[in-house]
This record gives sequence, C-alpha cells and structure tokens, in this order.
Amino acid sequence: MANKRRRISADTAPRCSISSISDLPNEPLQHIASFLVKPSRVLLALAIDAQDRLSSALTSAIVGDQWDTLDFGEIERKLAAILSDEHINAILLRIDAVNRVKKLKLTNCINITGAGLGPLSESSIIEQIDLSLVGDHEHYRSNFRPLISCRPQDHVLPILDSIFEREGCSLRNLRFPSVWWTGGRFEQLLRRYSELLTNHGVSCLKCNVNLPPEIESWIDSSGNQKYTCYRCLKHYCRKCTRPDDIYVDDPYILGYCDNCEKRVCIDCEQMQRCTRCEKSFCVGCKPFTKCSGDGCDDYLCEECVSLGYADEKCCKCEGRFCHMCDDQMESYCSICDRYCCNDCQQKHYKDTFAWSYCDYCNDGFCDDCNKTKGINGINAIQICNVCNTCCCNDCRVESLQHEQQTCNECMKLAGPFLLEEHTRLRKENTELKAEISGLKD
Ligand SMILES: [Zn+2]
Ligand SMILES: [Zn+2]
Ligand SMILES: [Zn+2]
Ligand SMILES: [Zn+2]
Ligand SMILES: [Zn+2]
Ligand SMILES: [Zn+2]
Ligand SMILES: [Zn+2]
Ligand SMILES: [Zn+2]
Repeated sequence: MANKRRRISADTAPRCSISSISDLPNEPLQHIASFLVKPSRVLLALAIDAQDRLSSALTSAIVGDQWDTLDFGEIERKLAAILSDEHINAILLRIDAVNRVKKLKLTNCINITGAGLGPLSESSIIEQIDLSLVGDHEHYRSNFRPLISCRPQDHVLPILDSIFEREGCSLRNLRFPSVWWTGGRFEQLLRRYSELLTNHGVSCLKCNVNLPPEIESWIDSSGNQKYTCYRCLKHYCRKCTRPDDIYVDDPYILGYCDNCEKRVCIDCEQMQRCTRCEKSFCVGCKPFTKCSGDGCDDYLCEECVSLGYADEKCCKCEGRFCHMCDDQMESYCSICDRYCCNDCQQKHYKDTFAWSYCDYCNDGFCDDCNKTKGINGINAIQICNVCNTCCCNDCRVESLQHEQQTCNECMKLAGPFLLEEHTRLRKENTELKAEISGLKD
C-alpha cells in the first residue's frame, strides 16, 4: 500500500528542471556555503561563476561579507598549495579585498609568485600581510624555496610599495618568507617599511613611549617584526616584552615563541617558558608539562620531556616530576614499567611504599603485577612469616642456595618457583638430547 502510494506521487511530481547548480534556489546554496570556511566560499562562487552567470545577489550571499581576514590557512594545505596567481587575483577581486581585507595570510600558497596580489595595490585599510607562507604554530622550514620573491622585476615589491605610499596607509605588520631575510633588496624593503611604521608615530600601548626605541630597529635579525603582537597588532615597548635570553620575573605583555617565531601578547595567546631549556613557546605550538611536585612551579616543554626530563609519569594521577622533585615519585614496577607518585601511594594504599619491594635486588612490583605473581606467574615478591625476609623468588632461591640453615617457610614459598625451574631445565634437556640425536642421524 505504502509502496503504491509512493509510486503514484513520484509519477505525478513535476519534472525537475535543474541542469546546473545555479538553477538551485538561493537558500540551499547559501546554506551549503555557510558550512564552508571563507576562502572555500569564494572558490565555490568562482567555480559556479565559471559555468554560469549567477545573479549578483546570490554570489554575494555565497561569498558573505565578513572579509576582515583572508587566511588561506583555513583551507586544506594541499588545496592552498595548488592555488595559482590567477586564483588569488580572482579571489581578491571577488571579495573586493582592497576595500575590505585588513589581514591577509597567504598560508601554504607556495605556488604563487605574488603577481596575483595586484588587486591589493594601494590598499589603505590593509593592516597585516603575512607572506611567510607558514601556517599558524608552524616553524619555518629552512630548505623551503618559495616562488614568491622580492626581486624588483617581480611583482610583490611594487605592490608593497604602492601600499606603503598610499595616504592613510594602515599597515602595521608584515611577515616575510624566511629566504628573504638576507640580501640588499630585502634590507631596502625593510628600511622603507620601518620608515613607514616610524612615520605612523607608533607608541607602546601601556607605557606610551615612542617606538622603536632609539638605535633599535623594528625588525630582528631573523626578519621578524618586533614590538608588535602578531594577532591583535597592538604595539608594546621593550620593557613590556619578555627578553629572549635572560630570565626575568617582571611581568611582560609581549612574548616571543621559539617555534613559530612570532611575538604575541598575553591577551592573545598563552605563552610558557621551559624551566630547563629556557625557551618560550606559545602553548598552541608546544604542549607544556607542569611539574606535579609540591610547591614547584617548573614547566617543561615537550622536547625536554621527550629528552628524558620528567619523562616518567605517575600511573595513577599522570603527574610528572622535574629532576628536583623526582623523589616525590619513588615507586616503580620493573615488570610493567610503571611509576606511582608518593601522593598516589598514600591515597590509594595509605602508605608511601605500598608496592612490594625485594630486600635483595631492590626490584619493585606493582600490586597488579605481584598479584599475577610477577614474571611467568611465579616470581612474586613475598614476605616469609618465619624469617621475615621480603624478596622476589629469584633472590629467595639464590639465598637458599648460599645459606647454611634453610628456612622451611622460605622453601615452601620458593616451591612453585623451584618446580617451574626444574620443569624448564628438564624440557631444555630433552630438547637438547633430541637435537644431538638429530645431528648424529
Ligand atoms: Zn595581542
Ligand atoms: Zn611598554
Ligand atoms: Zn608559537
Ligand atoms: Zn625545554
Ligand atoms: Zn600520582
Ligand atoms: Zn619540580
Ligand atoms: Zn607492574
Ligand atoms: Zn629480588
């Protein structure tokens, strides 16, 4: 019955006349576009446009109007890597970038020469251009040779200059590809850019001193801009910047990340300094481990942890301890290779050393491992009620062999272990015999 009804309604339904995507009503297209990241929205609009002329109302609905930031880091790395100058050019024109985009990040656009940036020429509103092609929280790759260059015969320099020279220029932060960092041309570009910043009359947001400080330059030896937060573009002076080399406890606002080589302010991103290697990283770049030691404020970066500093973690609370505090985690199981901190031993067993330890070889077995009787299920650490020795069966057998007077209770405890040893030796013996007779044949 239900089937029949469905068939009838399909027959009587009006024939669908959609032959291209632009025949779809506006709402579904807008809805689809709302799930896309911004660069993909323009790419979708451009792709449709290449086939059909869409109504401009629909295109602008797909493209959207929030274009303060155009960051190609939002799309897949692979896609960004194949975008050409023509694509970039078309995207910038489509979103009216010269009048809208304040932050442009060409993340992963390694296939462009910069010719496509033409539509940005003379922009008076652009505040940040990141030409480094490196994604957020990523490190410059030293062997990377991008096509985009600062040779005068190429495209980027004239475009940058047209922005520098534009009246009311808003540019406050530039980031360059690392290969640009050397050479006369780059230095000339930096000089013009530094002049521009200085002419803006920039001062520290907190102390109001003029920037840059005398004799200092805006750009550090790695070609990165100083005194400026990469994210909010606010400016802070040297006093408000955490020094890279010496450790100071002074409060600072601007920090420098040793991984992404960006300066970011504390309002924009949490930064941490590793107590051991003394490098600072934004937390987004490297996860940090805080020492769980009582009253210890040490932080360790991922690398130092992997190098063996605070490498061990408590199997109960997952806490890690710096070298100064590692006496706060003394329990170790040599079978399952787990640690347990003293606090957790206290909490779980009401005793700091509740796991079993052999008095002779000092090996410790955790409860789980000792319950399954250690290695091969027979080498548990046990206490002899008669002679009070607490040891693993290896050591018990060893001591039984050397002592004049044997403790019967110890013999009993070691019994299963001895039996196992005996069986093992016999088996080995039989195998050996079989091998020898095999050789004779
Ligand atoms: Zn900031
Ligand atoms: Zn300051
Ligand atoms: Zn970073
Ligand atoms: Zn470190
Ligand atoms: Zn613990
Ligand atoms: Zn510590
Ligand atoms: Zn264990
Ligand atoms: Zn032992």
